[in-house]
Amino acid sequence: MVIKEGFVVTPRGVLKTDVLIQNGVVAGMGENLSDGEALDAGGKYVLPGGIDVHTHMDLDAGAARAQDDFYTGTVAAACGGTTTIVDHPGFGPAGCGLEHQIDKYHALAEGKAVIDYSFHGVIQHVDGDVLAKMKTLVEDGITSFKIYMTYDYKINDGDVYTLLKRAKELGVLIAVHPENDGMVTRRRAELPAGGYTAPIYHERSRPVECEAEAVNRVCMLSAVAGDAPLYIVHLSNHLGMVYIRMAKENGLKNVFVETCPQYLTLDESLYLRDDGVKFILSPPLRDKSNIALLWEDIGKGWIDTLATDHCPFDYSLKRKLGGADFTKCPNGLPGVELRFPLAFSEGVLKKRISPVRFADLCAAKPAKLFGMYPKKGVIAPGSDADITIIDPNARHTVRHADLHENVDFTPYEGMELLCRVDTVLSRGDVIVRGNKYIGEKGRGRFIKRSKPILG
Ligand SMILES: [Zn+2]
Repeated sequence: MVIKEGFVVTPRGVLKTDVLIQNGVVAGMGENLSDGEALDAGGKYVLPGGIDVHTHMDLDAGAARAQDDFYTGTVAAACGGTTTIVDHPGFGPAGCGLEHQIDKYHALAEGKAVIDYSFHGVIQHVDGDVLAKMKTLVEDGITSFKIYMTYDYKINDGDVYTLLKRAKELGVLIAVHPENDGMVTRRRAELPAGGYTAPIYHERSRPVECEAEAVNRVCMLSAVAGDAPLYIVHLSNHLGMVYIRMAKENGLKNVFVETCPQYLTLDESLYLRDDGVKFILSPPLRDKSNIALLWEDIGKGWIDTLATDHCPFDYSLKRKLGGADFTKCPNGLPGVELRFPLAFSEGVLKKRISPVRFADLCAAKPAKLFGMYPKKGVIAPGSDADITIIDPNARHTVRHADLHENVDFTPYEGMELLCRVDTVLSRGDVIVRGNKYIGEKGRGRFIKRSKPILG
């Protein structure tokens, strides 16, 4: 197959060229290529398929279960131009070995996922067994590990330091959810006790300072651990970035930062609406001033990746459980389907970032940091033909009814997008056309990941 006449986004720039695909990989690029089927991409952007390194498919969150499983969730991802996910598993039973959740997730994903996938390891406690099994998992292609500084299985600072040293030894990444647990826990008790139970107090219970303080603390731990590779997930605010920049200007290395579309488009005023409970997630939506600042941070290259933290619960469920008290509401938003078109529309077509910067943020850098480059994340000879074609002249309004996520709302309802996902290829197969998934169930493959490329 040949993709003809598109604007192909490569690391070196946007080239008007044809892309030849043979046996599921990119076989060549150039003028006037022909071989088999021709796919006309005239006037459209031809981009590396999106890589979302932060999803929660089928997450068991105790009181509720994230509603997209590896089938519905990856169909939604595919329809939105994402061709690879790296999922963050939920917690296993207390004291379980490091392999427990990986084994479980292999079973959840196999035969269901329609795009290629991998998992992060999840660390719930630290002991000799966990430290030893990190190496086993790395050999099995799990080259990043998630820790939480809050929630039930929070890791204390001493153990975070130990893990960072171990990650450095193994040459792998620690992905961290940074929030000051003491502060959050106290505020989640004192606000409802004072009668402050409305959705806006979800934000007030875990303010920007809680997150920024923990971002700073974990950066310092990484520095003391010898510049151990560290990946900050879902940065929601600019204050956290100020700390990271200060540390980097004073020599900090190997710290990488992810943000999410919700923090680039939505703000805390939504919590004041009648349906405010819909928007509860952690970290929460922030003051509107953060939106422009985070876009600037992306433009400067200070933010490395854009991922979604996709974790959908029905609005009806969130209202039922959390309508009277924000502390009872399951945390999380859907987003896996709209990340790519939304960021292309708000970022590239509104001239905040270049197409090359967009491809780096949504595909190339995630592939590098999570050990999948250049097989994934780039259109280049020899790479998997994971390709998303975007029509930049397709202004439309986001409607929940047009989406494939298995949830009863989208937080982006009514937003104007300037583009649309036209066609999606995964390993050379056309899997999406006209907003419809046309591939088989379970065609996705587990990706045995290499060690991160940090440079
Ligand atoms: Zn998450």
